[in-house]
Amino acid sequence: SKVLVTGASGYLASHTVEAFLNAGFPVRGTVRSAAKGEYLKELFKGKPFEYVIVPDISEEGAFDEAVKDVEGVAHTASPFHFKAIYPEELIKPAVNGTVGILESLKKNNPNIKRVVITSSIASVLDPTFPKPHTYTEKDWNNVSPKTCEEKGKDAPPQEMYRASKVLAEKAFWKWIEDEKPAFDGVVINPALILGPLIHPCDMVEDLNSSVAMVVPFTKAVPRDQVPPVAANLVDVRDCALHHVKALTVPEAGGQRFISSLGPSLANDWLLAVHKYFPDIGTVDGDPSIVESSKKAEICHDGSKAAKVLYPYRAEEETLRDTVESLRERFNL
Ligand code: NDP
Repeated sequence: SKVLVTGASGYLASHTVEAFLNAGFPVRGTVRSAAKGEYLKELFKGKPFEYVIVPDISEEGAFDEAVKDVEGVAHTASPFHFKAIYPEELIKPAVNGTVGILESLKKNNPNIKRVVITSSIASVLDPTFPKPHTYTEKDWNNVSPKTCEEKGKDAPPQEMYRASKVLAEKAFWKWIEDEKPAFDGVVINPALILGPLIHPCDMVEDLNSSVAMVVPFTKAVPRDQVPPVAANLVDVRDCALHHVKALTVPEAGGQRFISSLGPSLANDWLLAVHKYFPDIGTVDGDPSIVESSKKAEICHDGSKAAKVLYPYRAEEETLRDTVESLRERFNL
């Protein structure tokens, strides 16, 4: 029962491949180059991993070959950066990649059981809602696509990314509703993903957008220069397991799942760094405000995923392992 993981050399995807292998599934990953495929072959040496090259997920028929003979799909490949000049740069690969894999399945593997796609909390959050607010799977971001439509290249890059995730997820559910395939769909909506790196990435500058946020915390940052982090967090290993469970837990079919442990703020990051890496010599957080400050923030309620799919590890562990991994990989 082989599964296909797209964008396998990405930060989340490489953990997702590992989680599937650990759960006993042979994995085929799509990558953009042979060099990245070989890196993964070495990483997963001795395990049933193979790769195929899909240079651009935007192309029609990009996944026609890749989907053959697999029993499940986890589609995670999608551009995640804030460097786009036009919204279409992100929207096209996000939407075409999602619809494209469904079309390829229809053509070449219609009897597959289930398809899981990685959406984002970005397709849940309405950026105009006042704080505090707790988001659940019932919520949709209907703002970012409109902003991009109206402002085009003048839309903020964050809005372009958010719009790409909203439009891709909407296209996914619409395709399933219209086409009524034999398979069902599950969507994972991760919050900010942190945790150790196992994917190919040689330079700090090339880090994926979420882990890059931790880099300033690997140095002795003065109190007045602490980045104002106000996120919700999920560990990359837990999020990967959510993808595995999304493919295997029968009642997950047809549902979206927020993958989030809950609010995680700069104060929490300082507390963890100060505790586990005293040699960095950064300023400490304030333990007395941990609970109260989190209540005042935006909460991404990931309790459904904890119940139906897999429970979360502690936030402190994620922060510790992210910093440790960054220091190890880049000599920070
Ligand atoms: P990465 O940038 O590490 O992974 C993105 C993957 O998509 C890479 O493998 C990349 O290939 C591939 N990709 C992007 N564009 C194309 C394209 N046009 N053709 C082929 N492949 C492409 O980021 P993450 O691991 O963080 O993100 C993975 C998924 O998770 C994305 O869907 C993202 O939206 C989602 N997500 C991430 C969150 C986070 O905090 N990290 C939060 C919520 C959702 P290559 O490596 O060769 O560039």
